[in-house]
Amino acid sequence: MINVKGKKMNKKDIIEIGKSLYNKDLTVGTSGNISIKTDNGILITASGTALGFLDEENIVLTNFEGQELENKKASSEKMLHVEIYKQRNDVKAIIHTHPVYLTSFAVCHKALNAPIMSENILYFEDIPVAEYAMPSSKQLVENTVKYFKDRDVVMMANHGAIAVGKDLTEAYLKLETAEYYAKVALNTQIIGNPQELSEKDVKDLINLKNQKN
Ligand code: 13P
Ligand code: ZN
Repeated sequence: MINVKGKKMNKKDIIEIGKSLYNKDLTVGTSGNISIKTDNGILITASGTALGFLDEENIVLTNFEGQELENKKASSEKMLHVEIYKQRNDVKAIIHTHPVYLTSFAVCHKALNAPIMSENILYFEDIPVAEYAMPSSKQLVENTVKYFKDRDVVMMANHGAIAVGKDLTEAYLKLETAEYYAKVALNTQIIGNPQELSEKDVKDLINLKNQKN
């Protein structure tokens, strides 16, 4: 995967991240969408495209309200991206996919919030599930965007997950790590009797995180 840190992102970066998502089993078929915020507007995948096999033709420039500036149809979830960018000035890249483990938790309406791994407390605290609404609906935007006030990864009930970052690499790594968290959480349920960290352990980790920030 290319490192886009510190340089302006472009269509090629979206294509590369799409391949990484596909190679890591974080996307399937034509589900999901990817966007970046640029000086000229939002670059977002076209509706119905396979993220693992994108070319520049499959990426659409919209204005900051989500209106297409080219003669191509932007992702049906473009308003979700637009509203997250409006709410979070620090966010410059958004990835939405239907990864199998996160989507399984989203189907069961189960947030990932058990303190089972120290690293994940440092990384996420929790990954909530936004209430169900039809894909690409206004209601989905309303139900989901509010969770991004203080989180970078959110599941959408009976649908999938979204991750945000200051660049595509960061958003990708968050989604990958969230999917890993979901896998471990499921495995610990299968093995049985997962040992959760104590309240004191969790507090110490949160203190450590605050010191780092
Ligand atoms: P688009 O192909 O329109 O981006 O939609 C895919 C998707 O995942 C809808 O939620
Ligand atoms: Zn979707």
